[in-house]
Amino acid sequence: MCAATTGRATTRLSDRASWTNWGRNQVCAPVEIRRPTTEAELVDLVKQAAANGQRVKAVGAGHSFTSIACTDGVMVDLGGYGRVLEHDVAAGRVTVEGGIQLHRLSDELDARGLALENMGDIDQQSVAGATQTATHGTGLRYRNLSAQIVGLRLVTGDGSVLACTESENANVLDAARVGLGALGLVSTVTLQCVPAFRLHAVEEPVPVEEVLADLDELVSANDHYEFYWVPHTRWALTKRNQRTDEPAEPRPRAREWIDDMALNNYGFGVLCRVGRWRPSLIPRLAKIIPNTGRLDYVDRSDRVFTSPRRVRFWEMEYGIPREALPEALNRVRRLVDEMGMQISFPVEVRVVAPDDIPLSTAHGRETGYIAVHVYRGTPYDAYFTGVERIMDSYGGRPHWGKLHFQRAETLAPRYPRWDDFQRVRARLDPEGRFANPYLDRVLGPPGGQGSG
Ligand SMILES: Cc1cc2nc3c(=O)[nH]c(=O)nc-3n(C[C@H](O)[C@H](O)[C@H](O)COP(=O)(O)OP(=O)(O)OC[C@H]3O[C@@H](n4cnc5c(N)ncnc54)[C@H](O)[C@@H]3O)c2cc1C
Repeated sequence: MCAATTGRATTRLSDRASWTNWGRNQVCAPVEIRRPTTEAELVDLVKQAAANGQRVKAVGAGHSFTSIACTDGVMVDLGGYGRVLEHDVAAGRVTVEGGIQLHRLSDELDARGLALENMGDIDQQSVAGATQTATHGTGLRYRNLSAQIVGLRLVTGDGSVLACTESENANVLDAARVGLGALGLVSTVTLQCVPAFRLHAVEEPVPVEEVLADLDELVSANDHYEFYWVPHTRWALTKRNQRTDEPAEPRPRAREWIDDMALNNYGFGVLCRVGRWRPSLIPRLAKIIPNTGRLDYVDRSDRVFTSPRRVRFWEMEYGIPREALPEALNRVRRLVDEMGMQISFPVEVRVVAPDDIPLSTAHGRETGYIAVHVYRGTPYDAYFTGVERIMDSYGGRPHWGKLHFQRAETLAPRYPRWDDFQRVRARLDPEGRFANPYLDRVLGPPGGQGSG
């Protein structure tokens, strides 16, 4: 699997460091970037920052599109803090340091006959960063990655370490599984895994009207179902992944390269660049995408769930009640037609099982996700606000790591356990050591209930 470029520290601006995310749409100037490799160093740096009156922000792989990981205080880059600490194969549990990237975690798990139950569409994120924003894949019977956490260790606002399990500090564990980085530095994570498995993947274009008419059956009959509607066309690119005992029969390397690099990435990148130069060509160019043909293969689960992303884009994604998906997508389709905007990126649709995590976007309901994207550098305000208005009408919850325009006042009523989260935050970080302007906007200032 090729590595995507992650968030990175760049040249110094005056006496400060400069950091930018994967999407290159968020830049910040931390007073310092620290790269701890032990939990003791995490504790020390929080205590030092507290003594200096500075804020602290952890960063994983910088794959959030929002400014959630930005800080003008001390940035904690956990890239060098990613070992596997313990494993219990019989129980299917592993404990890892928070900075481990999902592709390394998948290799480590596979070597022990284990796997993550479900994954999103890339494997570059750190386990702490991915779970702090409720990163998810697709599958009506499978929950998001955060719901696989059964224990963690948290360095809180005063530098103390809180061990959280299902029986010890259980209410903190409950909230910290999707903590937005607001509750402390996640030092280690214990994950409930499953025995390693393979997936049989079938990918093919299908008319979008057919997909929408059969959506209930498609998401029920397939372990992991998703599709991308291609704007300006009547096509959906569908992906059906079924768990299987069949032997691995991966895509031939050459075909894999053509699909992932030439079509999904570089060829697609050319389409986006041409589209930005001459937007009126987009509808004609878009018709090329569904001609990618049918793919049928069997491979290790993480290799089927994830693929490289070479073309940088900006994204907004909303979780809404699953039953509303067809109607909501049709409204997005009408919006694209009515706005007369030329959209070069497909609209992604996925489903996830409900969970009980206070700030999970899938809290308490079977959730359907609709994600809209633009090629990096394309103005998105009109498109994203239009889609956001549609999602608002379903009580939509924005992905914490993807672009949106909500505030604490508009978000609080969409999360039945909002106050539970705020109570834990007020207790663990009363001074807002881990706050930043994004968290002030979406959670409210530290120490309060955050909804106005
Ligand atoms: C190309 C691409 C594809 C994506 N695909 C998907 C997808 O399929 N499904 C999906 O749901 N999302 C997807 N995302 C979004 C992504 O999974 C989330 O934004 C995720 O949070 C990024 O993880 P990260 O390690 O880069 O974290 P960052 O973006 O670096 O940080 C995210 C948050 O986690 C906090 N954090 C990080 N480490 C720690 C720590 N140790 N302790 C406390 N807080 C911490 C940060 O402070 C910040 O608040 C995608 C993003 C990109 C760019």
